[in-house]
Order: sequence, then C-alpha cells, then structure tokens
Amino acid sequence: MTVNIGPADSYTWLTETNNWIKSQEECMCVWEGKIESNCVYCQGSGVYTSKTAPFGECLNIANGNMATLHSALGLPGDSWSGSCSPQVMAQAILELDTSLVCRVPSVEYNEEGPTVYNGGIHEEQTERYVEHLRAIVIRAVARDVDISWA
Ligand SMILES: [Zn+2]
Repeated sequence: MTVNIGPADSYTWLTETNNWIKSQEECMCVWEGKIESNCVYCQGSGVYTSKTAPFGECLNIANGNMATLHSALGLPGDSWSGSCSPQVMAQAILELDTSLVCRVPSVEYNEEGPTVYNGGIHEEQTERYVEHLRAIVIRAVARDVDISWA
C-alpha cells in the first residue's frame, strides 16, 4: 500500500491542462504479430499508452515510509490522509532533521533465507523525498492550493 502526496488539485489540474507525461509501448495483447481486436488496454491498436504525473506533481510513497516521514516532518493529521498549506510544508522541510527519517532495514534471517519486514530508508532516499516535497510546495504555491496526502 502507498500514499500519494501532491497539490490538492493535482488530478484535476493534470487532466484539464493535459500535462500528463504519456509513454507508449507495445500492448501486452500483442502476440506473434497478432493484436487482440477488443483489448481493453489498447482498443485493438496494439499500442498501450500510460500516463504519469510530471516531477513535483506527486510523490508516491510506501505507507511505512510515509508514517516515518510524516512524523519526522511533524505534519498535522495522520500519515494515511491529511492536508496542510504549502507554507506549513515548507517550514516543516526547513526544520526537518533528516536523521529522524533514515532507518535501517528490518530483516530476519532463518534457515529458509532472509525475510525483509521493511527495506529501511537510506539517506539518498530521504534526499529524494525532500527534493520531491520542495517541488510539490512550489507547484502548490503557484496554484494557490493546499498539499494533500491519501
Ligand atoms: Zn491490447
């Protein structure tokens, strides 16, 4: 499970402005040169188009990592869903002690091999999160909307 953080109007903005980043690839229905004519993914074209948000529009983060980040940033509400102004997020980023975000992986070893309970959060990953959040703040300020997560 993951949590998505971004400007509160993200989906509407992306749809209205058509600022999705589109990428195309051969559809999974194509087999030995034949295309499934009533494929729900490509409508028989053989080309699957996927849409993703540009950098700064959203940060998709694992629930456990969001709980850690939410707590370290001291954001309002809980880590599952909530919102704050971009000013609150900017201040939280400025005051962030990144050592509170980093944690070692939780791995248990037994006869069958390792079991990873969580992958931990490395310093580089923390920096990526912060870089994303800064970009989200800039977009939220530019559009005068809150930042929400769910
Ligand atoms: Zn298809």
